[in-house]
Amino acid sequence: MTIPPNQDDANKARTTYFNLPALDVSLAFPQATPAAIFPPCTSDYYQSNDLLTPEEQALRMRVRQSVEKEVAPIMAEYWEKAAFPFHIIPKLGALRIAGGTIKGYGCPGLSITASAIATAEVARVDASCSTFILVHSSLAMLTIALCGSEAQKQKYLPSLAELKTVACWGLTEPDYGSDASALKTTATKVEGGWMLDGQKRWIGNATFADVLIIFARNTTTNQINGYIVNKNVPGLKATKIENKIGLRMVQNGDILLKQVFVPDEDRLPGVTSFQDTNKVLAVSRVMVSWQPIGISMGVYDMCHRYLKERKQFGAPLAAFQINQEKLVHMLGNVQAMILIGWRLCKLYETGKMTPGQASMGKSWITVKARETVALGRELLGGNGILSDFLVAKAFCDLEPIYTYEGTYDINSLVTGREITGFASFKPAALSKRSRL
Ligand SMILES: Cc1cc2nc3c(=O)[nH]c(=O)nc-3n(C[C@H](O)[C@H](O)[C@H](O)COP(=O)(O)OP(=O)(O)OC[C@H]3O[C@@H](n4cnc5c(N)ncnc54)[C@H](O)[C@@H]3O)c2cc1C
Repeated sequence: MTIPPNQDDANKARTTYFNLPALDVSLAFPQATPAAIFPPCTSDYYQSNDLLTPEEQALRMRVRQSVEKEVAPIMAEYWEKAAFPFHIIPKLGALRIAGGTIKGYGCPGLSITASAIATAEVARVDASCSTFILVHSSLAMLTIALCGSEAQKQKYLPSLAELKTVACWGLTEPDYGSDASALKTTATKVEGGWMLDGQKRWIGNATFADVLIIFARNTTTNQINGYIVNKNVPGLKATKIENKIGLRMVQNGDILLKQVFVPDEDRLPGVTSFQDTNKVLAVSRVMVSWQPIGISMGVYDMCHRYLKERKQFGAPLAAFQINQEKLVHMLGNVQAMILIGWRLCKLYETGKMTPGQASMGKSWITVKARETVALGRELLGGNGILSDFLVAKAFCDLEPIYTYEGTYDINSLVTGREITGFASFKPAALSKRSRL
């Protein structure tokens, strides 16, 4: 074949079936059912459901049925095009899980266990939807509930609880990720309010949020304060971060704040230093711990069905010893993760949970989930790299979860500090000069 001089000629020279649409996966591979028809839950081997109250069990089933029905059929498509499925927001709102543990102001007032179970059930099917709710609910709404004035709670929480409005939570900056307490966005007092200047990065839901919780350094006290910023205010710009390999449906944004005026009534009175974010992070780290649990449950469920459907060498894949070992390994991990996650909830409910315990829950569970989804990816062979069969998507979605809300390393160091009494966040040479 001679090489055509330009691309158009090159395309014409190709075969007639060049650029045909892809075959639907159920036609291309009828041997196994894709995740659009979600597999039944088979991961509760030690019957941990018995640890839940009847109300928590009922909520679990309600969330499971809804997400399997509404999200599973569309998730691969939206994940692939890195778009958020806005049409499902009212359906997620109808679940009455946004606002989780918050009591009053139209919020559901769930137990932390119920809220965690709901988080896992959404993540079992789709981690992006779970992150969308988590940022909105366990970070933004909870900050208003725990650190806001009475007027702020009444003004913002009811519509956020119904998901009629959406919120995001902006702490991280381009120069300050793990080191977020050193953030540089400034809040300068002016007549009647505050002027915010700076930049945020990675903020989930940022491109379409109605309400933005922004943390900034008070130029008078040099402490971190919190502000409620409404979308469309002059000087505010949020743009989507492109090319993510995980949680592709979540719209993470870069936020630019250039002389953004926030009236006095939208400053969060309960955030007077970085330490005040810890009350929020204590709850949200428990919730984040349940995301990898849910993801691992879903991956196990998918593998369990797939291995029975798919045959090689004249037998279902489930009949091979090596595959069984991997499946059992995954199942054992899921049981242990659930028990750690459940115990964290109970420690929190009795007021005994320490920051180190929450951090170890998040870091340990995420590591075990990474192992679990990697096994699942192997078990599905080639289909293990297709988002249609869930595990590839889950495999990728777990990576940002490993990193956000404190990376594995940072959470390990939080626990390490608690159990040894030594903070080791800064290299020794710098620590001598700092007050951390
Ligand atoms: C998909 C996604 C969604 C997110 N959503 C939000 C959001 O809604 N709101 C928000 O505010 N932020 C959000 N984040 C930001 C997230 O919290 C940060 O990415 C995270 O804190 C890590 O910061 P970094 O990415 O800057 O990594 P870095 O801090 O640059 O860390 C890079 C590596 O160095 C290691 N490291 C750093 N410091 C230490 C140390 N002292 N000791 C040992 N190892 C260290 C880390 O563990 C990591 O492995 C999101 C991030 C992602 C990826």
